[in-house]
Amino acid sequence: MKIAIIGGGIGGLTTALALKQAGQEVTVYESATEIKPVGAGIIMANNAMQVFDKLGIRKKIETAGYKISNIKITDAQLNTIFASDLTKFENKYGVYNVAIHRADLQKILADETGFKNIQLSKRLIKIEQENNFKLTFDDDTSIMADILIGADGIKSTVRNQLFGTGSIRDTKQRCWRGVTEFDWTSKYSHEAFEAWGKGKRFGFVKISDKKVYWFAVINETLIKDKANVTELFKDFHPEIVKIISETQNNNIIFNDIIDLQPINKWQKGKVCLIGDAAHATTPNMGQGACQAVEDAYVLGKLFGQRKSAEEVFAQYEKLRMGKAHFIVNTSWTIGKVAHYQNSIAVWLRNTLVKTIPKSANEKQLNKVFNIDYEIS
Ligand SMILES: Cc1cc2nc3c(=O)[nH]c(=O)nc-3n(C[C@H](O)[C@H](O)[C@H](O)COP(=O)(O)OP(=O)(O)OC[C@H]3O[C@@H](n4cnc5c(N)ncnc54)[C@H](O)[C@@H]3O)c2cc1C
Repeated sequence: MKIAIIGGGIGGLTTALALKQAGQEVTVYESATEIKPVGAGIIMANNAMQVFDKLGIRKKIETAGYKISNIKITDAQLNTIFASDLTKFENKYGVYNVAIHRADLQKILADETGFKNIQLSKRLIKIEQENNFKLTFDDDTSIMADILIGADGIKSTVRNQLFGTGSIRDTKQRCWRGVTEFDWTSKYSHEAFEAWGKGKRFGFVKISDKKVYWFAVINETLIKDKANVTELFKDFHPEIVKIISETQNNNIIFNDIIDLQPINKWQKGKVCLIGDAAHATTPNMGQGACQAVEDAYVLGKLFGQRKSAEEVFAQYEKLRMGKAHFIVNTSWTIGKVAHYQNSIAVWLRNTLVKTIPKSANEKQLNKVFNIDYEIS
């Protein structure tokens, strides 16, 4: 059975690796000319790192990235509002949260998948389905596949053509991301920060001893004509302003914060959707890619049991949909709360966040980090 995966992002590549390890014949078709995501870092949380551990690539990712043991929510001046200590989960699951440059992560995934299994410059434009799939690309080539997996992101062609669903929601928040060098050898180590202001927030984390990945998110209504990101965050802690202003412009990327309104069908017959194509979320829980990695894990386990594609996809949807939608919905709410603009609402929010019991936070993290799926 020939399996075609459309999209060579974190979701598509991890799925290819998991299926290859499960003994399947798999090819990834990626529209880009090379596997090289633009700028910026990413945090692969404990749940994703458990999957990478099972796939045998945890150490490589840890070595290329930077371990994170604490997540802090602060005010705009970096005074802690809430701290989340992850060591309990490190001990429980034997893995760390890891912050890493996206390019490094994707290179590891592509190397492990094997470039002979990845076809670049292949933008899928047309799907014809009878018993199997005829896939036509924008270079006028076509291939036949028995099984199709759409890992082609939030604007998925596979979802649009075969499921006809998917409404993209705009949060009206805009985001800049960057990576810069800082001599912070003994500062801000093994911690991720998110500083909440009024209608804006700034996150940063080291991805190596001397490199920092940051993101700055702001309500669209606060963006005036010609305002640049340094200007917009000048009321934040001086070190935050310094991080932004010292980042070279060509290392900064800009995008809208959007998600996919939850859809209740990810599969039919021999086709399924994974990752952002199925359940794109806002980035407020740092779980979008981690959820794609969990999809890959579950698919790998199910295919490893020699079930039919139809059985695999039906079970995959049943096992994964609840958790993925929980993430999408919770993240959407967090994004609203984190972006209150009104001073009283901000004060009340910060006061309430300070009172969140440690046990409630741990319960939530346990739900997110647990990948103990009942696969029968
Ligand atoms: C600001 C921000 C911060 C984030 N931070 C985190 C974080 O810290 N942790 C985390 O887990 N997640 C994070 N995320 C979410 C994460 O980036 C996504 O969830 C993840 O990249 C989804 O992976 P994917 O492979 O499903 O889709 P994508 O990364 O979108 O990959 C889809 C791939 O398909 C290709 N493609 C698209 N259409 C076609 C086509 N027609 N034919 C062939 N190929 C095609 C694209 O070129 C792309 O390579 C963040 C997102 C944002 C916006």
